[in-house]
Amino acid sequence: MSYRTEEVAYVQPAQPAASAQATQQKRSTAEYRALDAAHHIHPFSDMGSLNRSGSRVIVKAQGVYLWDSDDNKIIDGMAGLWCVNVGYGRKELADAAYRQMQELPFYNTFFKTTHPPVIELSALLAELAPEPFNHFFYCNSGSEGNDTVLRIVHQYWATQGKHSKKFVISRKNGYHGSTIAGGTLGGMGYMHEQMPSKVENIVHIDQPYFFGEAEGNLTPEEFALARAQQLEAKILEIGADNVAAFIGEPFQGAGGVIFPASTYWPEIQRICRKYDILLVADEVIGGFGRTGEWFAHQHFGFEPDLITLAKGLTSGYVPMGAVGLHDRVAKAIIENGDFNHGLTYSGHPVAAAVAVANLKLLRDDKIIDRVKTDTGPYFQKKLRDTFANHPIIGEISGAGLVAGLQLAEDPKARKRFANGGEVGTICRDFCFNGNLIMRATGDRMLLSPPLVINKLEIDEIVSKAKKAVDATAQQLGIS
Ligand SMILES: *Cc1c(COP(=O)(O)O)cnc(C)c1O
Repeated sequence: MSYRTEEVAYVQPAQPAASAQATQQKRSTAEYRALDAAHHIHPFSDMGSLNRSGSRVIVKAQGVYLWDSDDNKIIDGMAGLWCVNVGYGRKELADAAYRQMQELPFYNTFFKTTHPPVIELSALLAELAPEPFNHFFYCNSGSEGNDTVLRIVHQYWATQGKHSKKFVISRKNGYHGSTIAGGTLGGMGYMHEQMPSKVENIVHIDQPYFFGEAEGNLTPEEFALARAQQLEAKILEIGADNVAAFIGEPFQGAGGVIFPASTYWPEIQRICRKYDILLVADEVIGGFGRTGEWFAHQHFGFEPDLITLAKGLTSGYVPMGAVGLHDRVAKAIIENGDFNHGLTYSGHPVAAAVAVANLKLLRDDKIIDRVKTDTGPYFQKKLRDTFANHPIIGEISGAGLVAGLQLAEDPKARKRFANGGEVGTICRDFCFNGNLIMRATGDRMLLSPPLVINKLEIDEIVSKAKKAVDATAQQLGIS
């Protein structure tokens, strides 16, 4: 028997039924956990400890709710990982994927070819993004988006004949993904420590984290201005002729929903223009409605040269990332020969079709409008009213449907807890046990629910968060 016959004989019988069954098979929580522990390495996890305690198994979702394998109904205060903007279970997106998989599941966009979904998506993004953004490059994630940003930035300066402009300035406690370039751009110390070799010519300035880092009697506005001016100092130190770009999240997401005061971004923009440096807004979380604007840079009132997109682009239903290019950058890239970068799945037809359905839903159902005028202001006020003068809440940051709650030992003195992160973990565990998904970054508790959330569901999140914070204070013996 030849190898070939054997293979066919093995594969053929009852194969479709068996595989359908395998994906549908329901197991007990204990079985899921055992198999997960035996074979699955999770991202950003201490696997030894996770395997001993066991993961929560999420089996289905609808709207803003998740269900685990023990049939607990959990309210998702994080929209998955900041991405499920239209909420779970939207048939429009599932239908778009199904139709596209039948019509044209894949074709590449490398060799003088294109396809309808990527064309529709690009035209739609140009319509929805601010005026100067008319060109988009696609990838599969935010990390790849920021890798792409570096390629575009260097190509741009090469086309301008400014070959010495090689340095990119980023911020400590920024997050730009977990590829090697993304991790190097980001300012998470523990990620840097893990990687002995990094992308060259990336340097960091301090973050605009008022509650944790402002000294003396500076107002938030004065502090933000001083932090922005670190960019100028860094440029002068390196030499403007050597600096290619500055990158930042309009508000830091993973870093703790840190919202800079209004003085920050205009000053950053002034400095970038003065020294002829490209300004990159990493909109992976801020994009597609989180603050109530389509893009977070619109909320803060500045105009970047490049925007990184992912997460909300497809509401997380399938992976996709993108980079938007300002006309002046696009022109230089388009008119100067080969751009030597691409991913097999750049502009993947299924992802593009889902993105189009998602963006139309955000627009036509007026989901983002509602965040801006209705649910966003309601959420922000509710949080601020509920936690006013709370003994362990030092600050509430945010706009639209994203918020950070600073846990603090002495809120009035802006004194944080010693052993940063311990108290956040306690609070997160109370949330978890109360069937609320809320994330902790150090001692900041984060919320970023699906943008379709209604007021009743907002009330539920805030009251569950209050219970968890109260229980945390009680455990610490603070009242
Ligand atoms: C999540 C995130 C990324 C990375 O996106 P991935 O899809 O996880 O690669 C980049 N930048 C920001 C601001 C993010 O929040």
